[in-house]
Parts: sequence; C-alpha cells; structure tokens
Amino acid sequence: MPKVPTSSAGTNGDAVDARPAKVAAAGVDLARIERAVREILAAVGEDPDREGLRETPARVARMYAEMFNGLKQDARIHTQKFFTENYDEVVLVRDISFCSMCEHHLLPFIGMAHVAYIPNGKVIGLSKIARVVEVISHRPQVQERMTEDIANLLVDELGAKGVAVVIEASHSCMTIRGVKKPGSSMVTSSMKGVFRSNLSSRAEVMQLIYGKGR
Ligand SMILES: [Zn+2]
Repeated sequence: MPKVPTSSAGTNGDAVDARPAKVAAAGVDLARIERAVREILAAVGEDPDREGLRETPARVARMYAEMFNGLKQDARIHTQKFFTENYDEVVLVRDISFCSMCEHHLLPFIGMAHVAYIPNGKVIGLSKIARVVEVISHRPQVQERMTEDIANLLVDELGAKGVAVVIEASHSCMTIRGVKKPGSSMVTSSMKGVFRSNLSSRAEVMQLIYGKGR
C-alpha cells in the first residue's frame, strides 16, 4: 500500500503562525511561497509592505498549501476499504463539487464530477469516491487528465466492470481573462470497460447523470 504523509500537527488553521511551522503543510515550503508572492506584488508595482498587503503573502501561501495538498497524497488510500457485494448494476455518485487549479494559469476551475462504476465484487463507500475526486483535484491540473486519472484509479483499484467519469467545470482562465466567456463550461468524460465497449451501457449511465429527475 502506498505511503501517505500525514499532515503534521500545527500546519492547519490560521491560529498557528509560529515560525517553526513555516516549512510544513505536508511538504509545502510556505516561506518560499511568501517570498514569491511578495515578488509578484512588487513586480506589478504594488508596495508589499502597505497595511492591506502585509499579511497577503502568508495568506496566499496557506491557500496554495491547501489547494495543492493533493500533490503529496495518494488517492488510492481511499479505495483500500471496500465491501464485497454481488451488486452488478450501476453505482453513480452525481454532483461531486470540486475546485481545482488549472496548471496553465494557476487559476481555479470549479465544477461537478459524476462518477459511476459497475462493481466486480468490490464496492466502496460513496464518500470515498468524493475523497478520490478531492485528492486528485487538489493538484495543478488540467480537466482532461483529472477525468482520466479518476477513471483509471477506479479501474485499477476496484477492478470495476465499467467506470464512467464525467466532469463539467467553469474555468476562470476562460471566464475572467483571455477570451472572457463567462457562463461557458467544459465537459470531459472518460469511459472504461463496458461503458466504453457497450453503447447501451454508456447511454444508460449518461441518462442517469443527465436524464429526467434532475
Ligand atoms: Zn487555464
């Protein structure tokens, strides 16, 4: 089983601003981020020492530590505890909200993941699927890879007969800058096993995700 670093005490929560905790947050070098953020502020012509900005580098550092805390985690720990069930119909967890960071602009993309699988004897708790999404989203990401990584993980770890992952998200790098198209969203999907090979299974799962009753 993969080794997963546990976050050391004193790295969570704003109350702990003690110096020794600076290089903590599961391997994230907070002090280094702070220096970089000061640099950015200076580079855009701001005064990093004015009152309103004084705490900003530290705040941004903690935010990045949180947004990227999936980098040092192995999402597979969430699939280790499974139940043996003879259920072989679709299990779908719909509308798992997430916030990830686009690796091209370091701007958030926010949306919903829908994850379905057809078990092959192994069933995991629904919250574990949400955990997997959370870990994989908390990395510098592109939506396509995120979709694929979630699907592959479930195929590998559960040996599921089929896995379908559909992700829809709004990318701030598209809505607030560049072409500035607010309201646009991006949809990606990854189909494995029977959802890939069997058209009616695929239609069924898409119907479950997007069909009536939504
Ligand atoms: Zn982007």
